[in-house]
Amino acid sequence: KINSPLEAYKYLPQTNCGECGQPTCMAFASTLIDRSGKTTDCPPLIKEKKYAKKLAELDRLLAPEIRQVTIGVGERAANIGGDDVLYRHKLTFFNKTKMFFDVADNMDEAAIVERVKKISDYKKFYVGRNLLLDGVAIRAASNDPAKFAAAVKKVIENTELPVILCSFNPAVLKAGLEVAKGKNPLLYAANKDNWKEVGELALEYNVPVVVSAFNDLDGLKTLAKTFAEAGIKDIVLDPGTYPTGKGLKDTFTNFLKIRRAGIMGDTEIAYPIMAMPLTAWMAGIADPVSASYWETVLSSIFTIRYGDIMLLHSMEPYATMPEVHLAETIYTDPRSPVAVDSKMYKVGNPTADSPVLFTTNFALTYYTVESDLASNGIDCWLLAVNTDGIGVEAAAAGGQLTADKVKDAFEKSGFDLKSDVTHNSVVIPGLAARLQGDIEDKLNVKVMVGPMDSGRLPGWMEKNWPP
Ligand code: SF4
Repeated sequence: KINSPLEAYKYLPQTNCGECGQPTCMAFASTLIDRSGKTTDCPPLIKEKKYAKKLAELDRLLAPEIRQVTIGVGERAANIGGDDVLYRHKLTFFNKTKMFFDVADNMDEAAIVERVKKISDYKKFYVGRNLLLDGVAIRAASNDPAKFAAAVKKVIENTELPVILCSFNPAVLKAGLEVAKGKNPLLYAANKDNWKEVGELALEYNVPVVVSAFNDLDGLKTLAKTFAEAGIKDIVLDPGTYPTGKGLKDTFTNFLKIRRAGIMGDTEIAYPIMAMPLTAWMAGIADPVSASYWETVLSSIFTIRYGDIMLLHSMEPYATMPEVHLAETIYTDPRSPVAVDSKMYKVGNPTADSPVLFTTNFALTYYTVESDLASNGIDCWLLAVNTDGIGVEAAAAGGQLTADKVKDAFEKSGFDLKSDVTHNSVVIPGLAARLQGDIEDKLNVKVMVGPMDSGRLPGWMEKNWPP
């Protein structure tokens, strides 16, 4: 396995031709290691026959420990797995846990369409991006091939999201596969009873498949090995999700054992893992709020400990909100703080008389300030200074936020304090008060020191603006 740019560089053409968009092959090698680039981004490596062997070897050495599996097609295709580490502080976790919500083929058509639209339209704004749900799991509650095919048709007519076809009956799965041809659905599932037929379906339709053995890791491994030997590459593991008691403890232990073995090099079990928090609904909990609550608890546990894909049921906001937030947080790259573009933003409808403020490009800081201003109706200009995604206090102390950086950010934004506004003044964060003199000197403007906390900006503005 390759872990450093220098090792990857050995397999590249080393001509520094720049066709990949990087100035040198060594710079390109760095993108391969942090996975921002792919070997296919180097045209000579792909096109020239003399590099074919090196390319194959490089691809093999760069492959993640846990196989990456793709479900669906197009922009909303879901990649799962692909991890190289057990703990995110060692590198990062790739491919956020994907959340699929169920529909059943015994629901009436209108109810299926309504639920599918709800899943597809789900959106939760969070630090500059929309958190979305990832797919639809279609359960063959009827065990009737015709009924299941009709439900699959209804679902794929109403969403671009990837789907999972759920049944242990190969005839039912085949009916669903016929309808979902070309959509690359995930098959759920092959078990000790049906593995031969379901394996054949996975090969015939060339789709990813789940192998399932409840609380039986040896059985699970045997199934995965058999499928791999038959030429099925895209396998997902379902060790069973027991919702409560000792079963839950076993489930947790199974997830740990599978992922640890996969990362440590046991390729026979190095596949993404499926968790099923929706089993909370089958745990004899009569009250739907309690079932939703417990489903969210299970989802949280297996987002943190190695669920790559989940089947869920409750779409109550109090269930989905923590689920999508937690997945986003766990899968944020700890090496690079979440940042917004460094530029001048308009808050509301600012004019030449409106105040000019700056903050850092750390997304949490930026969106907190922006929301404090916007929700209080303060029209203004807000510059996000590039501090490498570090917050105001730490950046001012650590040298990432200086008068030169502020000057540079104003120049790059194209905003001219002399001509774009009438007051030639700028409001700086109270936590960067120490920069007041420097900024006055460098920018030749009046510097007003704002409050320590952007929540106090409305009161501060009332007292101090206009200058
Ligand atoms: Fe090197 Fe390939 Fe990039 Fe050219 S395209 S600089 S050969 S990595």
